[in-house]
Amino acid sequence: MHIVCCDLEGVFVPEIWINVAVKTGIEELRLTTRDISDYDVLMKRRLKILNREHLKITDIQNVIAGLDPLEGAVEFIDWLRSVTQVIIVSDTFVQFAGPLMKKLGSPTLFCNTLTIGAGGAVEGYNLRQKDGKKKAVIALKSLDYSVIAVGDSYNDIAMLKEADRGILFRPPVNVVTEFPELPVTYEYSELKELIIKEIDGAC
Ligand SMILES: [Mg+2]
Repeated sequence: MHIVCCDLEGVFVPEIWINVAVKTGIEELRLTTRDISDYDVLMKRRLKILNREHLKITDIQNVIAGLDPLEGAVEFIDWLRSVTQVIIVSDTFVQFAGPLMKKLGSPTLFCNTLTIGAGGAVEGYNLRQKDGKKKAVIALKSLDYSVIAVGDSYNDIAMLKEADRGILFRPPVNVVTEFPELPVTYEYSELKELIIKEIDGAC
């Protein structure tokens, strides 16, 4: 039996931090997991910038409230959930994801949390567990699922490699070059085709 683990940002919704950068005009917030492979380095840098600029959790939530899923994402998830089980496995935070998950039809979400201080300052971040994406796949495999994983960037690679079938969706060129063993898709129709092939092939 199959189950699909999908990344969120870059696969179904726009990159949240890039949009925060655009809205606030703080260029340094543009860096994402697509540019920096060490998530801890990236998050510490982001938190430092938020602190320096006195940005609160509500400032970021206001940006997120204005975001919509990528074109075709809602239809794709609806289709995927009609043929198999789906879990969104993301490095985002509970405090960010709510409104976007609602727009996606509220699929199951595994993600992290932020520590919010008095007055709404973003004081820290807490990973639910280290290597959470990879461990989600390991756990599902231990429940006897065949796991198909979909992601777009560095923080997805361990999950994609651990899965029975890992698929890149709209990855940046550097990721494609570094991991030529992973199949690459750019449109939901291509992704759909690969997933059907994987599910049918195993029957
Ligand atoms: Mg992503």
